[in-house]
Amino acid sequence: MNHIAPTADLPVADLTEAERARILAKAAIFAPPAQTDAQGRRDLVGLTREELAAEMLLIGEKPFRAKQLWHWIYHQGTRDFAAMSSIAKPLQAKLAERFTIGRPEITTEQTSTDATRKWLFRMRDGQQVETVYIPDDDRGAVCISTQVGCTLSCRFCHTGTQKLVRNLSAAEIVGQFMAARDSYGEWPTPQSEAPRLLSNIVVMGMGEPLYNYEATAKALRIAMDNEGIALSRRRITLSTSGVVPMMDRAGAELGVNLAVSLHAVTNELRDEIVPLNRKYPIEELLAACHRYPGASNARRITFEYVMLDGINDSDAEARELIRLLDGLPAKINLIPFNPWPGSPYATSKRARIERFAAILNEAGLSSPVRRPRGRDIAAACGQLKTESERARRVPGPV
Ligand code: SAH
Ligand code: SF4
Repeated sequence: MNHIAPTADLPVADLTEAERARILAKAAIFAPPAQTDAQGRRDLVGLTREELAAEMLLIGEKPFRAKQLWHWIYHQGTRDFAAMSSIAKPLQAKLAERFTIGRPEITTEQTSTDATRKWLFRMRDGQQVETVYIPDDDRGAVCISTQVGCTLSCRFCHTGTQKLVRNLSAAEIVGQFMAARDSYGEWPTPQSEAPRLLSNIVVMGMGEPLYNYEATAKALRIAMDNEGIALSRRRITLSTSGVVPMMDRAGAELGVNLAVSLHAVTNELRDEIVPLNRKYPIEELLAACHRYPGASNARRITFEYVMLDGINDSDAEARELIRLLDGLPAKINLIPFNPWPGSPYATSKRARIERFAAILNEAGLSSPVRRPRGRDIAAACGQLKTESERARRVPGPV
């Protein structure tokens, strides 16, 4: 029997499933190291409730301990077992012997003149990522990273010049938000109606979240859990450069807001500036957007469009954008290009951006221009990059 079916004969759904399996297998190659410290103590951050309960069973404790720990870790923000007053001292000591409640370690923290804050975080194995907090009037978004570097190489993006070093773990992803909260002292988690300084998560930092889907999904589920950080899925936005096979899954399983890095209206240009387009061209990307569950006029898909001087910012391109997005619950986020050392583009002129936005607005498309934030500390979109490099593989015995 021939098990290898010729690809052309496979129905589309099977092809997508095969693609998904390939993407997940590749993510595993770049998996993070085990979440244990030098003494072999396991980090409890990043475990699901079920995994936490299983850890308790393993040390002979009742599963309800997991619920208590969850409250201390994600509601109270406690990092020290000795401060967990609902747990008796001997058990506190037992937990401390076996477990830790980890955080990414702050290497540097910088605050911009516009109050944007950026952290360079160091993970247990020394790898570094950047995280940014962007405050607004009565709320604020934490922009988190999902990978050290990126496999993709969008021409306008600084992260894209850094090779993928490795994927972040769920603990490292949700840990960025928790460390940001430490920095602003926003623990315990404010009641749901109370205003929060750190009210939103945007998965728009370093890396492509849909190429590290499992860990990202786990981290976001933890952030959404009502007995912990309790962020509504409406306050979380995941940005993708267009990993089509994973978009359906993210929509069905997480239901967070979707942002899509479109940036061009022809495949010819998008192939060049967002090279992933060669794999998943605009038609396929937009079809996945049409399928995205939960998108509606009340919850629109955001299309990010970086404004590159003389490259993608003409009136004709604005009109083509309107045509492409026809029938989709869409809004457009125009992002003035943020330069970085050696970047090959210039930012579109102010008047050009305004004209482009006006054309979209006249067609009824909401198209706010993203105000660059934190440029003075290189914290704006697309400026993030760290010194981390993938260790050269030492050739081993064959
Ligand atoms: N990898 C994901 C998320 C991270 S990038 C993605 O590409 O969507 C977050 C956003 O910043 C994306 O829309 C990205 O295209 C945009 N961006 C990248 N470099 C930029 C730059 N130099 N100036 C402005 N926006 C940029
Ligand atoms: Fe990666 Fe997104 Fe930057 Fe492209 S824009 S290189 S996908 S981080």
